[in-house]
Amino acid sequence: MTAAPAFALSPVVAGLWRLAEWKLDARALVRWIEQALELGITSFDHADIYGDYRAEAIFGEALALAPTLRERMQLVSKCGIRMPSAQRPYRVGHYDTSAAYVRAQVEQSLRKLHTDRLDLVLIHRPDYLMDAAALADTFAALSREGKVAHWGVSNHSASQFALLHARHPLVTNQVELSPLQLDALDDGTLDQAQQLGLRPMIWSPLGGGRLFAGDDAQAVRVRREMDAIARRLDVSLATLAFAWILRHPSRPHPITGSGRIERLREAVAALEVTLDAEDWYAIWTASQGRPVP
Ligand code: NAP
Repeated sequence: MTAAPAFALSPVVAGLWRLAEWKLDARALVRWIEQALELGITSFDHADIYGDYRAEAIFGEALALAPTLRERMQLVSKCGIRMPSAQRPYRVGHYDTSAAYVRAQVEQSLRKLHTDRLDLVLIHRPDYLMDAAALADTFAALSREGKVAHWGVSNHSASQFALLHARHPLVTNQVELSPLQLDALDDGTLDQAQQLGLRPMIWSPLGGGRLFAGDDAQAVRVRREMDAIARRLDVSLATLAFAWILRHPSRPHPITGSGRIERLREAVAALEVTLDAEDWYAIWTASQGRPVP
């Protein structure tokens, strides 16, 4: 395996998937970014497709209004999904990791975000038609040009990660993990992250809100167990969910999804909580609906 270059994200990362729903004008978004930075959240997770291809431009308007913020943050974006939308009437949603498409999307992200460099770009989903050698050449070219500092992937299996990592150093795999979604614990992605010392990024740490609002049997079971633990530890349910993720030895970076600062504060509070193995496994057990074998 190729050694990865030095790279750091803030322990908790702010996600912008839902930014277009928050209805913040540029001035309010500047304030939101400043408050996130004050909490120690300095990394911001975007994708070209978020907000129906509009979220990066909304964030970029705030950076244009307050350009000094850029030097205080790490900008992460993703590309590779061709998602049908009004402006993009594809016959079918599909993935594209060709040199021309990755370059076009990176350059578009730079323009929309009003910046000349992205700290990290991820291939959003595994493209079954990916030519790893050609994509590695694209990564190298965009890095030589100073447009992208580091590369990674999202939602890639361990073998898909290894295929690309052998040709160009990747710094992370961004995967889903929450008390309601345990697959990453068993599918090898977190084992690989720990083996390589490459900290994973974690999306939907609260199950996209299902942890609070879900009325399916799993959500009800997990909430009941977590409410009891949260009361005993005197933390909120959200803080406990982030602490459960942070307890994993791969040292994950959970990504928040909320536009409310108090919810970012609850995520950061988890950095002060260390769950013991019994509480961690009690949540695992509630999620699985069965005890460990
Ligand atoms: P999440 O934290 O699991 O879910 C966020 C949702 O939970 C929001 O709707 C939020 O509502 C709600 N919520 C948060 N705290 C709550 C509370 N205390 N009580 C009730 N509801 C609460 O995260 P996510 O938004 O699904 O994902 C986080 C980030 O991960 C995204 O922004 C994106 O950057 C990244 N992501 C990546 C991928 C990928 O394929 N790589 C996929 C999905 C997401 P409010 O807005 O009202 O607070």
